[in-house]
Amino acid sequence: MSRRILQPVRAEKVGAQKLVTWGRPTLTPSARFGRVIPVCEPVLLGNERRYVDECLDTNWISSKGRFIREFETRFAAACGVRHGVACTSGTAALHLIFHALGLGPGDEVIVPTLTIASNANAVRLTGARPVFVDSEPRTWTVDPARVEAKITPRTKALTAIHLYGHPCDMAALREIARRRDLWLVEDAAEAFGAVDHGRPAGSLGDVAAFSLYANKMITTGEGGVIVTDHDELAALLRSLRDLAFDEETYFWHRYVGFNYRLTNLQAALGLAQLERADDLIARRIANADRYDAALRDLPGVTPPPRTPQVRNVFWMYAVVIGDEFGVSRDELMIELGRRGIESKTFFIPLHLQPIYFDPQDHTGYPVAEDLARRGLYLPSSGGLTADELDYVASSIREIHQQAKKK
Ligand SMILES: *Cc1c(COP(=O)(O)O)cnc(C)c1O
Repeated sequence: MSRRILQPVRAEKVGAQKLVTWGRPTLTPSARFGRVIPVCEPVLLGNERRYVDECLDTNWISSKGRFIREFETRFAAACGVRHGVACTSGTAALHLIFHALGLGPGDEVIVPTLTIASNANAVRLTGARPVFVDSEPRTWTVDPARVEAKITPRTKALTAIHLYGHPCDMAALREIARRRDLWLVEDAAEAFGAVDHGRPAGSLGDVAAFSLYANKMITTGEGGVIVTDHDELAALLRSLRDLAFDEETYFWHRYVGFNYRLTNLQAALGLAQLERADDLIARRIANADRYDAALRDLPGVTPPPRTPQVRNVFWMYAVVIGDEFGVSRDELMIELGRRGIESKTFFIPLHLQPIYFDPQDHTGYPVAEDLARRGLYLPSSGGLTADELDYVASSIREIHQQAKKK
């Protein structure tokens, strides 16, 4: 057959084992709140409607209009860098970055294994190969001590993913990148507002990608932003986002570009969100403080990492369940679902995915695999009330106590 569409990679065929078999528990609205408390939903309490209305009233609904440039400028300033380039998603941001760095077949990029597929896919789409690294047990982010062993003469870049809002050990990663002459790319999709030793996420490497998806720290519905202090790279990214029209001769192309343009409608939402960013970030941190206090003495529940000199923004309040808790992570999720509480498992590590599984890779990724088996995140929206947070925490306590009685 010559006419054939793309076929999925079959796990059996490549030898990938489905280490994490967990699906989704059934959710029943909670008797107390009359609804399912979702893991995340956006908080739209500022000028969102007013600015979107302005787009409609003025007819500026496409990718030109005042909100885009204003949003980019303000977003970059919030990250403490000079340039902001808005685009259609966090994944598109990463694709633009790797394309702009000139990656192609034969090149390699170091990527942490415990994350969403976006980063590795963006590398793969350039023709380069993602090379995975295990997590560090303390912060769950990429382990700098394991990076060096994965660097080869083909390695061109290193990606730092600030998992669940906690920055990577950036001092260590910067040192490796400098010594080995690699680009250091931050995937800060989950970490807008995070700070490492006084410096905001987005300013910690050479270039950074953010996502503006509805569950992220701030949102435009769908969207992404790249920030960098590198003038030439910023100009190239801006051009590649827009089909790389030549500056001198329009409709003349010297680069293969994309249409990854954000719309003025989306940027309108984004600007309104940015105006209230401090509050949106503070809400997530306040959630974490309340959960931490309520779950503190509960055996077998490891809270998300807190590190001196680091501001974790707790994009997701992620916990790891140990044997002492009395029921497994999966049973806990079912029980929470019965009480109207949505939860989610951690990411399934990329080295296990049918699309990336490599039977020749004998490195081992014990930390990421263990986290993937035992980790879940609890409702983490900025809009949660104290009552809802307490209900989630007391439900977990109750599930633990019932397990103890059995
Ligand atoms: C959300 C996310 C992305 C992708 O962002 P989209 O806007 O959904 O494409 C990339 N990396 C990480 C770490 C993310 O959490």
